[in-house]
Amino acid sequence: MSMLNLSHTGQTDSFIVEFDAAIEAHMDWTRRILRCAVLHTHPGEDVMSPVAHTLCHFGHWFRLNTEYFEELDGESALHVENLHQAMHDAMRNICADVMNGNAGKEVDLQAFEHAQSELLMLLARLKTLCISHAVRHDPLTGLPLRHGIERDFALCMKDARRSHTLVYVSLIDVDHFKRINDDHGHPAGDLVLRHLANMLRLSLRDNEPLYRFGGEEFLWLMRCASAEEAEKSASRLLAAIRSTPVSIANLATPIALTVTLGLVRAGEHEELSSAIRRADVALYQGKKDGRNRFVIAS
Ligand code: GH3
Ligand code: MG
Ligand code: MG
Repeated sequence: MSMLNLSHTGQTDSFIVEFDAAIEAHMDWTRRILRCAVLHTHPGEDVMSPVAHTLCHFGHWFRLNTEYFEELDGESALHVENLHQAMHDAMRNICADVMNGNAGKEVDLQAFEHAQSELLMLLARLKTLCISHAVRHDPLTGLPLRHGIERDFALCMKDARRSHTLVYVSLIDVDHFKRINDDHGHPAGDLVLRHLANMLRLSLRDNEPLYRFGGEEFLWLMRCASAEEAEKSASRLLAAIRSTPVSIANLATPIALTVTLGLVRAGEHEELSSAIRRADVALYQGKKDGRNRFVIAS
């Protein structure tokens, strides 16, 4: 349930273009080797160097983005690195043999073919993961959208039953957000939402999923041991937001921000949709009561 904090958020299109270019560069590298085998031309340092795998365009690009790939799928990322190096090692051996006027060894050729096909398969998998991650996350804040919410809720409820703890479904809605857009412009409004999302992300526990639920609305699956703890968490969050105005470049004064929370303790067998409906009623009540507060549905 952890949140991928991707540096590529909102730039998936250009990242995929880079991804394809890196694979194409790898195919170019392979073509160059064919020329070496046929014409006996020197294949270059990114083939013959003992660290050739760090010199080729693909290796360089993949290393630059290692952190991202590790977050996406750590095992596949590690595999890609190992296969890529194995492929380079095999190819260096083959080219050295050819340059010395000998035939390459079958064992090297097999190692190359195996590593290359596995590598391309893994890269296709990582690319699919990258695209599916992008459609499930909000490009502005990086927060997950609603796709996985039912599953996460079911997991939270199961865990809560096991640990005899509670789950509160909490809707967080920015107060008078339209005014912020009207007074400072839509781009400033966007920055405020980003800032708020970061603050929420930092305030919540690792086992408390957070989603961008709608425009200026967030949904938080709060975990706690008692009703008192739920109240404390909600009021701590309100205080943190209210005491942290958002500084924006070129704006003389930071933008003050408050939110209203509607919370409901999820019943043991309650559907998420029902808990959300009740949280929404509590939120509406909080707005009516003057905003900048939380209301827990009874
Ligand atoms: P209330 O206190 O009752 O919640 O008032 P409000 O102004 O926050 O609520 P309202 O629903 O009237 O307006 C929400 C505004 O949020 C309207 C919409 O243009 C704006 N909004 C929604 N999504 C985004 C976004 O991604 N960026 C920006 N800048 N504005 C957004
Ligand atoms: Mg709203
Ligand atoms: Mg609002």
